[in-house]
Amino acid sequence: AVDAHEDLNAIITKTGERALEMARASDDRRKAGRRKAGRTRGALDGIPLAIKDLFCTEGVRTTAGSNILAPFVPPYESTVSANLWDAGAVMLGKANMDEFAMGSSNETSAFGGAVNPWTRAGDPETRLVPGGSSGGSAAAVAARLALGATGTDTGGSIRQPASFCGIVGLKPTYGRCSRWGIVAFASSLDQAGPMTRTVTDAALMLGAMAGHDPKDSTSAPVPVPDFAATVEQGIAGLTVGIPREYRPEEGLSPEIDAMWTRGMEMLRDAGARIVDISLPHTKVALATYYIIAPAEASSNLARYDGVRYGLRVVDEGDSLHDMYRKTRAAGFGTEVKRRILIGTYALSAGYYDAYYLKAQKVRSLIARDFRAAFDDGVDVILTPTTPSAAFPLGQEVTDPVTMYLNDVFTVPTSLAGLPGLSVPVALTGEGLPQGLQLIGRPFDEDTVLRAGRALE
Ligand code: GLN
Repeated sequence: AVDAHEDLNAIITKTGERALEMARASDDRRKAGRRKAGRTRGALDGIPLAIKDLFCTEGVRTTAGSNILAPFVPPYESTVSANLWDAGAVMLGKANMDEFAMGSSNETSAFGGAVNPWTRAGDPETRLVPGGSSGGSAAAVAARLALGATGTDTGGSIRQPASFCGIVGLKPTYGRCSRWGIVAFASSLDQAGPMTRTVTDAALMLGAMAGHDPKDSTSAPVPVPDFAATVEQGIAGLTVGIPREYRPEEGLSPEIDAMWTRGMEMLRDAGARIVDISLPHTKVALATYYIIAPAEASSNLARYDGVRYGLRVVDEGDSLHDMYRKTRAAGFGTEVKRRILIGTYALSAGYYDAYYLKAQKVRSLIARDFRAAFDDGVDVILTPTTPSAAFPLGQEVTDPVTMYLNDVFTVPTSLAGLPGLSVPVALTGEGLPQGLQLIGRPFDEDTVLRAGRALE
């Protein structure tokens, strides 16, 4: 592993003092509560967490990994983090991430990328990426800096870094966790979720994070089951679908293929039935995502105008337009600018129908594929999480299309709004972790977690 925690660069802002205050406050509350109502403990009492730096934290700098928000101190707390504090958790720090959650390696962070703790000691030349965009969260949990971390996942940003760092990561159903107070990337896809060492921890943490929030109109008014209570119930009789389209024509790497087969065996040994299924629109998912996500991002990022948040670059005598241009030129990194350009183009008059509207139609077809499989009696779907294990820093960052291919197995789930869980299952010949992904019906995280438990 990388020798010193500092070398991991997993945390952008440390909040150790606040963690102590929070722990004391939670302790006082508990004592007072116990006297009054016989109340015992919060589900996460005293549990130290890292919070992805995309969640607004009241009075604590929230950067989204960007220079444009580097000076931004939110006056409010995101619903998800507030829910975690209500359950007794304490915040150790704000975790590093790709800028505005755009990336698969952490290398687009304005603060320098986090490093994967599985990097071999004494081998600094081949530092590995932790994945992204929630790479700081994944590195912090993998290196035991925190017991758990929040992540957000728009197209794979919880599941891919979880796979690269050998931890558990769950993207819940769209609408399960409130997006209120989370810096927006692509609003119809963004979803918060837990990143933990075990599936049981993910069940516990999700239970605390989730729930309907009137402040987010896309937050679902559905009850939150006690995931931790059912996670050990086993999967006897469950039907597991294996989508043939996730085996590309050019083939999977033999190691990923072998791990996938091993996963099927583990689920079968636990009492599940394995069936072959088809998700015919899988091959167009990545292209669809890379229209929809940048389009929504270009719209969401219009608010960084040098007036309302964070950075402002303006010189004497400048016009308003000069200020916009200078602020955005200095504040946004290359990948973010690329997405704003793609998104603005796709939304332009004359191109909207050809790109954005078309992508929305294809998105419906992708969701319909999943629905058909579930209607046929499939309970969960098993796939690899990523097409490779963690790669060295610098290897893919110069080639955006290669970088985008990291999301090939995670993006369809995001477009369909379904829950997806990555569980570490095997090590490569080089000793690097890899995960398998379980996909479930909407709001059926319960079954996904139970199946994930059978892969541990
Ligand atoms: N890597 C994908 C992207 O760059 C997914 C990011 C995410 O899920 N936030 O868009």
